[in-house]
Amino acid sequence: MSKKIMAINSGSSSLKFQLFSMPEEKLLVKGLFERIGLAKEMTFSYQTSDEKAEHTLPHSSHEKAVDYLLHFLLEKKFLSSLEELSGVGHRVAHGGEYFSQATPIHAEEIAKIEELSILAPLHNPVNLIGIRAFQTVLPNCLQVAVFDTAFHQTMAEKEYIYPLPMKYYRDYHIRKYGFHGTSHQYVAMQAAEKIGVPFEELKIISCHLGNGASICGIKDGKSVITSMGFTPLAGLMMGTRCGDIDPSILPYLQEKLHLTTKQINVIINEESGLLGVSELSNDSRDLVRQASEGVHQAKLALDIFTSRVRQTIAGYAGELGGFDVLIFTAGIGENSSIIRQKSCEGLECLSIELDQEKNQKNECFIQKNNGKPYVLVIPTNEELMIAREVSAHL
Ligand code: AMP
Repeated sequence: MSKKIMAINSGSSSLKFQLFSMPEEKLLVKGLFERIGLAKEMTFSYQTSDEKAEHTLPHSSHEKAVDYLLHFLLEKKFLSSLEELSGVGHRVAHGGEYFSQATPIHAEEIAKIEELSILAPLHNPVNLIGIRAFQTVLPNCLQVAVFDTAFHQTMAEKEYIYPLPMKYYRDYHIRKYGFHGTSHQYVAMQAAEKIGVPFEELKIISCHLGNGASICGIKDGKSVITSMGFTPLAGLMMGTRCGDIDPSILPYLQEKLHLTTKQINVIINEESGLLGVSELSNDSRDLVRQASEGVHQAKLALDIFTSRVRQTIAGYAGELGGFDVLIFTAGIGENSSIIRQKSCEGLECLSIELDQEKNQKNECFIQKNNGKPYVLVIPTNEELMIAREVSAHL
């Protein structure tokens, strides 16, 4: 029998939702509350297959958003009663070493997510606000936490231990965690289904290239290596995050310019990456356009971005001992044929060659001929993955 399941992604000033009918994976309605807590009013927008609307609401808190959402679902007949909602899945940024898979949420899990807030101060606390808001209104409904870090908990010690004194791992949990796990797992499973080979039998390199960007190497259905680290700042160049840099740059800058830790964090998280190098935009669309008009820094930013992607793919190929599938996903990965093309230039040595026409049309299979390795463009869908996890716990 079909069950209705909600996927929730709460941010500091937003709450995104998608309501699915499972197991048929039918999206019934999706929407977004924005500007929560920033002003007296918040905005609410939603979309179904044939309707789209936006309102301003006279309240502004996560609790009010959840209240409004449930009334809206009843009024619009997406739910006949609140009991019809079988479960709610919450995206949670950091599961630390506690969570290697999605888990039903009880007091113990809440305490652990709270404890892990020290590792994800901008995300875990707001994820908890969403969880608590639903628990207040629906105390008997199954709630499941789906962690961005969980998929990567299968990495071997040699991948997650940093070459720092071990006491910092022991005492402060400083290690690589990796993020975007739900997305990497989802697109990798989708790819396996499209190719028609069991997920566990493929070696996969998944490139999640959006405003945040990471790459994951997958073998035996498990994450073996990934580019984000202790925080999502590590690895690839991103929209506004620098990715990997020589760590001594930071104390050097801090001393030279008398910067606080907070100011340093703003530089490396919000002012770097595509935006920092181009001094124009963090949006790859703007940079592709400006680069084609000959703007040097736009071209340089894209060159650095794609070079990092290429180096990571090649490195992961070595670590996996070859690969069968390369996947591109997220805003840039799904839409930018030119960035996919530039990222793959030089990878002919790994038998990667794109079919220009298929690549330009954003087709699903974009490799030249039909040979291996397969190169796929797969839209990510973290919300559906969250709904699947809830479904599995029902
Ligand atoms: P995400 O974080 O996955 O939402 O990705 C956001 C980024 O994807 C934006 O900053 C753009 O650079 C890129 N993007 C989104 N749509 C397109 C598009 N149609 N063509 C090229 N790039 C796009």
